[in-house]
Amino acid sequence: MTNATPSRKPKTPAKKTPATSVKKHKPATVLIVGAGFAGLGTAIRLQQAGIKDIVILERAGEVGGTWRDNNYPGAACDIPSNLYSYSFDQNPDWSRSFSGSEEILGYIKAMVKRFDLEKYIRFNQNVSDLAFDEDQGIWNATTDQGDVFSGRAAVMAQGPLSNASFPDISGIEKYQGHKVHSAAWDHDYDFRGKKVGVIGTGASAIQIIPELVKDASKLTVFQRTPAWVVPRPDFDTPDWQKALFRKVPASQSALRKGLYLAHESMALAVIWNSPMTRLAERLGRWHLKRQVKDRWLRRQLTPDYRIGCKRILVSNDYYPALQQPNCKLITWPITRMSENGILTAEGIEHQFDCIVFATGFDVGHSGTPFPVRGAGGRKLDEEWKRGAQAYKSINVAGYPNLFLTFGPNSGPGHNSALVYMESQIDYIVKGVKTILDKNLKTLSVRGEAQDEYNSKIQKRLAKTNWNSGCKSWYLTEDGVNATMYPGFATQYARQMASLELKDYELIPA
Ligand SMILES: Cc1cc2nc3c(=O)[nH]c(=O)nc-3n(C[C@H](O)[C@H](O)[C@H](O)COP(=O)(O)OP(=O)(O)OC[C@H]3O[C@@H](n4cnc5c(N)ncnc54)[C@H](O)[C@@H]3O)c2cc1C
Repeated sequence: MTNATPSRKPKTPAKKTPATSVKKHKPATVLIVGAGFAGLGTAIRLQQAGIKDIVILERAGEVGGTWRDNNYPGAACDIPSNLYSYSFDQNPDWSRSFSGSEEILGYIKAMVKRFDLEKYIRFNQNVSDLAFDEDQGIWNATTDQGDVFSGRAAVMAQGPLSNASFPDISGIEKYQGHKVHSAAWDHDYDFRGKKVGVIGTGASAIQIIPELVKDASKLTVFQRTPAWVVPRPDFDTPDWQKALFRKVPASQSALRKGLYLAHESMALAVIWNSPMTRLAERLGRWHLKRQVKDRWLRRQLTPDYRIGCKRILVSNDYYPALQQPNCKLITWPITRMSENGILTAEGIEHQFDCIVFATGFDVGHSGTPFPVRGAGGRKLDEEWKRGAQAYKSINVAGYPNLFLTFGPNSGPGHNSALVYMESQIDYIVKGVKTILDKNLKTLSVRGEAQDEYNSKIQKRLAKTNWNSGCKSWYLTEDGVNATMYPGFATQYARQMASLELKDYELIPA
C-alpha cells in the first residue's frame, strides 16, 4: 500500500432503488436531513433537551458527511482538532494538532455510539423533495426510495460542501484516462509510476499534492489563482497531554478557549482590511520566500489579491512538493480537455494517465440541493435565485418550523465551523422547544425581520475583504455574498443566543 492509496475503503454508495410505491412513515417531532456533524450534533442537543422523537435521513450508508467522503491522501482539518470538535464532546485523544480525516471520522462514529444516535438514522434515504403541509403543520420529506418521512419541525443539515463539482471545461467528457474527484477518492487506483494531472490549488489540492508527488512518476499541477499559504503548526500530541486532558478535562477546555480566542483575533486580518491584514500578508510572503528559492516559481505562487479575500490555506509541505523534480506547476489557462489530457492556452497538450479534480463543491448560494416548498406552495430555489437569504442564517419567511444549518451568511473565514454550528444547534433546540411548549402549529419568521437582518448583513459585508474584488466561491456570479458571516464568532453566538419572539408569527395548533 502506498501513501497515495490508504487502506480506507471508499464510502458506501447511496442506494438508488427506483421508487415503486409511496411508503408514509409516522410523523416525528423533528426531521433532520443529513448525518454529518450538523445533523448529529442537532440530534444530541435535542436529545439532551428531552426531545427524543427524531428521524435523521442520510443518503449514504454511513454517518460522517465531509469526513466520510473526503478521504483523499493527506485529508485533514485546517483548524486545530481541539477546536474543530464539539465542546460538549471533547476528545482527549487527538493524535495531533490537525487530525486526519480518518481520525475525525472515527470521532464522529464514536459520538454516534456514545450518544446512542443510530436508532434515529435512516440510511440510504436520499431526500429529493421537502414540502410543508399547511393543513397538518408538518414537513414531508420524500426520498428516492419512495418513502415519505414527516416532522413537526425540519432541519436541513445536508451540508454546505457535500456535492462535488467538476469544472466547466470544454471537452471534459472526451478525456479517456482515469478521473478522480477529491471528494470521492478512488482507493483502488494505483498512482505509482503514473503521469498525473491535478486541477486546482485550493484547500484539498494542497493536501493531496504532497502525497501524490511521492507516488506519481510525473505530477502536473494546474493553477488558476495562487492562494495565500501560511505555516501549519502541526505537532504530535504528547502522551502526557492526553493523560492530563483525561484526568483534568478543564485543562482541555482551557486550551480550546485559548485556540478560540487566537482564531477570533485572526478575524481582524481575515475579515477586515486592517494592519493585521498587512501582518498576515507578510507572514504569507515570508513562508513563500523561506520555502521557495526560485524567483520565477515564487512569482507564480504570489497572490495578487488581498489576504482573506479567498480562503487562506495552511501547509508546510505544499511548496516543497511543488519543487520535487517530478512535479511541475502550470499557470497557463486550461482551454479544453482532449482524449489524452489537458490543453493549455499556449497550445500544449499535457497527456496523463489520471486527472485529479480538486475543484471543490457545488455551493449553491442561489439554489437549494433539492426542491423545498413552503407555505402557499412557494419555492425556495425561486426565492433564492438572486442570492440566498435567511433570518440569522437559520429561518426563512414563508417556511414555518424549518431550520437551516450552515444557512446563508453563516460561513466562518477565521474560526472553526463547529463553533458556529453549536450556536445554530442551540438555536434550533430553542425553536423546537418553543413550538412544543407553546403547542404551536407554526413558528414563522416575519418577512420584515428577515429583510432588516439581511440589509444590515449586506452593508457589513460590503466592507469586508471577501467583497474586495477577487473571485471566490463565497460570491455568486453577480458578486452577492450569500455565504460568509461578517463578524466575530462571538458576535454570531450572541445573535443566536436568544430567539426573539417579536420577530416571529406564532400560530397555535
Ligand atoms: C474537505 C473539507 C475539509 C474541511 N475542513 C474544515 C476545517 O478544518 N475546519 C472547519 O471549520 N471547517 C472545515 N470544513 C467545513 C465544515 O466543517 C465541514 O464541511 C462539516 O463537515 C460540515 O458538516 P455538515 O454536517 O454541515 O455537512 P456534511 O459533513 O457535508 O454532512 C451532510 C450530510 O448530509 C447528507 N446529505 C446531503 N444531501 C442529502 C440528501 N438530499 N438527503 C439525505 N442526506 C443528504 C450527506 O451525505 C452528509 O452525510 C471542511 C469541509 C471540507 C469539504
